[in-house]
Amino acid sequence: MTSYAEFYRRSIEQPDAFWAEQAKLIDWKTPAQTICDYSHPPFARWFVGGTTNLCHNAVDRHLKERADQSALIYVSTETDEEVIYTFRELHAEVQRMAASLLELGVRKGDRVLIYMPMIAEAAFAMLACARIGAIHSVVFGGFASGSLASRIEDAEPRVVVSADAGSRGGKVVAYKPLLDEAIRLSTHKPESVLLVDRKLSAMNLVAGRDHLWGAMRQKHLQAEVPCEWLDATHVSYTLYTSGTTGKPKGVQRDTGGYAVALAASMKHIFEGKPGETYFSTSDIGWVVGHSYIVYGPLIAGMATIMYEGLPTRPDAGIWWQLVEKYKVTRMFSAPTAVRVLKKQNLEFLKKYDLSSLKALYLAGEPLDEPTAQWISEGLGVPIIDNYWQTETGWPILTIANGVEKKPSRFGSPGVAMYGYDVKLIDDITGEELKGPDQKGVVTIEGPLPPGCMQTVWRDDDRFVKTYWTGAAGKLRYNTFDWGIRDKDGYFFILGRTDDVINVAGHRLGTREIEESISSHPNIAEVAVVGVADQLKGQVAMAFAVVKDASLLVDAAAHLKLEGEVMAVVDKSLGAVGRPARVRFVTVLPKTRSGKLLRRAIQAVCEGRDAGDLTTMEDPAALQQIKDLLAS
Ligand code: AMP
Repeated sequence: MTSYAEFYRRSIEQPDAFWAEQAKLIDWKTPAQTICDYSHPPFARWFVGGTTNLCHNAVDRHLKERADQSALIYVSTETDEEVIYTFRELHAEVQRMAASLLELGVRKGDRVLIYMPMIAEAAFAMLACARIGAIHSVVFGGFASGSLASRIEDAEPRVVVSADAGSRGGKVVAYKPLLDEAIRLSTHKPESVLLVDRKLSAMNLVAGRDHLWGAMRQKHLQAEVPCEWLDATHVSYTLYTSGTTGKPKGVQRDTGGYAVALAASMKHIFEGKPGETYFSTSDIGWVVGHSYIVYGPLIAGMATIMYEGLPTRPDAGIWWQLVEKYKVTRMFSAPTAVRVLKKQNLEFLKKYDLSSLKALYLAGEPLDEPTAQWISEGLGVPIIDNYWQTETGWPILTIANGVEKKPSRFGSPGVAMYGYDVKLIDDITGEELKGPDQKGVVTIEGPLPPGCMQTVWRDDDRFVKTYWTGAAGKLRYNTFDWGIRDKDGYFFILGRTDDVINVAGHRLGTREIEESISSHPNIAEVAVVGVADQLKGQVAMAFAVVKDASLLVDAAAHLKLEGEVMAVVDKSLGAVGRPARVRFVTVLPKTRSGKLLRRAIQAVCEGRDAGDLTTMEDPAALQQIKDLLAS
């Protein structure tokens, strides 16, 4: 085994040689002529001149050796279904979906928006897009029509692939009416909608626009749609994520760099072997679902489990039952999910034979020590924290046990991964903090390695302005996270530097929630902050100023308005964006220049000292919040 230090050094000092080596992990139609073109920083173009295809690497290339091995294992405890697709069957389904999309007029470079529950057809749709060079944009099924509309508006899809409904905890959530409303709200109108009818909820089909997958699939049962050989820099997908401003950004990813980055991470970080089973409990609506439910494991020739359901239903043993049944070797989840399970009896874990499991990877939010300890003792396998973002597509910080076994440290996601030149920067001076144990902003020196975002969809300017700082030739990508590095190179992440909060591993912009709340006719102004929560990591708390305070005559009126505001958020963003509480005040704490003092509100909510308040306009404003919290 090589030493990780050496492996890492090579990736930073000789990136072309390093990534040319990694590129051999995937199939190319034509090899790259230039490994990295960084002639227009911060735009990095990886494997220029090479042609490849993500779907070919995830599906077709395995047909020779493992056509009859499991590829996609779809399990729903909501509808009691369990379907195993071999690579051969997955290949056939993806071609049926690709033929259907082609029939609906989708061509290379067109966008296809996927608004789906966790069903196998969602993966077919993603892979079908990759196959024909269409750009998919998956929108998390938990988002409501407002969020969906803004994404339709920005992505301008020719076709939307959706379903009648999803189901959560036995409760059917109809998707079709939300989609219809979103299309009504958006100025862009997709030409066609392809719908999977799960028979969970009746659908009103729009003649000429809506098509049923069942009928289309039947028509294309024997479809043969070859993979389109695409430039490595061809856009494979966009995925929207929250930032400081209210408008979500379309993170744009390439084809070749992404395929190489995933193949390399499956080898060096996840140690996935062909024929084994990978189980990621995320959702295809998030980046983990893209990288480590669909593409990563399949590229590695592994079977991947797609699970629709709660971790606690029918009981808290369901995940472990799946691990036993499918001999899962690598599992990926989020700390929140483990905290949910931690509230249940450890017996659920002990009931099953988990001897196949080799490691559990956790990401998306800080992993607290009690949670890590509990699951580590329960499973008896390494618990591997990993830190990354929608923007990067694969881990920035973790440990690469496939290169060299390294111990994990509680509280730390690990060391800088190969390809990432991670630097801590003093937020005031902009200087690099080279010594140990200094707190700074986590940045990555350009170019970003393969697999990371190429740009913001249709907004290069926003990409540059949002993420990059520093002098030309030494541009640095800002993660918007605070961090510390110890003397051994292990990092500790200390939370966001911007207004992004992390609720149960879901990234939300406080501005988005504020905009949604402000659309209620009786709300004049609102501040949303993230407050520490034992189970979810953080929850959103809203403090709002009402236009007509005379309506708030008593506690019942407060509760009524709070319920109304929450309903507005549910309708526009979905329940994921709903604040834990909405409280009403007559004035919000601001600086004299009129800036909302969100950090002071957050500190007060968490029972901490509010810090330096000398610039505060009206100290009584913060006192009101304190009084409310005490009442
Ligand atoms: P997302 O783009 O939704 O994956 O969210 C990315 C953000 O989640 C990061 O910028 C961090 O703030 C947080 N995050 C992700 N993984 C971790 C981790 N392992 N430890 C601490 N924070 C994390």
